Amino acid sequence: MAADCPGHPDALGTSRTLVVDPKAHPRIGTMQYAETLPLEDHEVVLTFDDGPLPRNSNQILDILAAECVKATFFTIGRMAQAYPEGVRKLRDAGQTIGTHSQDHPLSMNRMPIERARQEIDDGIASVTAALGNGAPAAFFRIPGLLRAEGVEDYLASRGIQVWSADFLADDWRHISSSRVYELAMKRLEQKGKGILLLHDIQARTVAALPRILHELKVRGYRIVDVVPATPEQPATPTEPLQWQLHPPSETVAISQWPEIPNFVFADGGELTAPAFSDLDWRDLQSMTLAELLDHASRSTRGVPLPRQAPWPRRWPVSSESGAIALPVPAASVFEMAEKSYAAMAMSSHHQEQTVQADRRTDRIAKLIAADSGESRRMRPRRQGEHARRSGKRHPTGHGSRLTAHGGRRELKHLVQFKKRSV
Ligand SMILES: [Zn+2]
Repeated sequence: MAADCPGHPDALGTSRTLVVDPKAHPRIGTMQYAETLPLEDHEVVLTFDDGPLPRNSNQILDILAAECVKATFFTIGRMAQAYPEGVRKLRDAGQTIGTHSQDHPLSMNRMPIERARQEIDDGIASVTAALGNGAPAAFFRIPGLLRAEGVEDYLASRGIQVWSADFLADDWRHISSSRVYELAMKRLEQKGKGILLLHDIQARTVAALPRILHELKVRGYRIVDVVPATPEQPATPTEPLQWQLHPPSETVAISQWPEIPNFVFADGGELTAPAFSDLDWRDLQSMTLAELLDHASRSTRGVPLPRQAPWPRRWPVSSESGAIALPVPAASVFEMAEKSYAAMAMSSHHQEQTVQADRRTDRIAKLIAADSGESRRMRPRRQGEHARRSGKRHPTGHGSRLTAHGGRRELKHLVQFKKRSV
């Protein structure tokens, strides 16, 4: 508890240690899986990927130590080879060490399974060698969260738990540390609890972390340390339902639909890997060690990019889920009242001799063209013929014959005629 944090009476602290059996729950994290850690409301698990990178990872460790906070670190094999003392520092600080492949390939969802196995095995071997004695926890996070069944099956066969996450803070993107803080808190508030994915190699994460921890404390969140079960330390007793972020009865997808595309739970299965457009890992793509080491410094010089708009995302949405079935909008929603057309026509008629009339007519023409696009596509030839006939019938370009009964097609012809005559 925070009270046990020597010299830091106001520390956030670590409220409890959750002991899990990786074999009993091989895949966790609601971003991709049906299950997540059995957390109580307002409980948070912090995870840090891609280290150790001394310059930033050491600062992360110091910040956590000052708050007596325990987290899980998913280390990369080649980073462990380059900075073995960084791995030992994590261990000596009492942090949990999982692994994150040897080279961080962003292709484990499509590479031959033999290569994927090699990545997993080599990563574990490198971290084990760095530790000197002991081994990393049987926790693995797939680089880029690019999951594949073969990879998951292999990890399960080795008794290793795959960790996805419950929410991100986008701290690998070129955004400010304030934005990282805002995203972390906003997404946590939306879920109420869960696993937060961060990166200890990022300077912006170093900058954001003190504020995140402070705010967690202010808002009454509690940190949970997670360790794998051992013969001496058996798994914390839990009920199956606790491994779901929200029990099904509480799942109200509609209320959060635009914000959390991952919210729809698969029925006991998994969702596909997040689209690259969502998880923009391009910074870390084809990561060589040299690039990785340069990554933090590059990112601090980066210009913040505008946030990606959420709406073009295409997420698999289960049609079986009744919770997200929206009613079909009534056709009337898309229709303009007939008198609106008439009003527009009259307005343009009165001003047809002026320059404004031309602009206005253009706008109306566009409006109508958009509205009647479907019928135009259906009958292009007949429409053209009719327009010519229409022109003959109204040689003066008068709109006076257009009434509410004229309908939108009549108005369109009128507008086309006017455009020619102005
Ligand atoms: Zn990573």
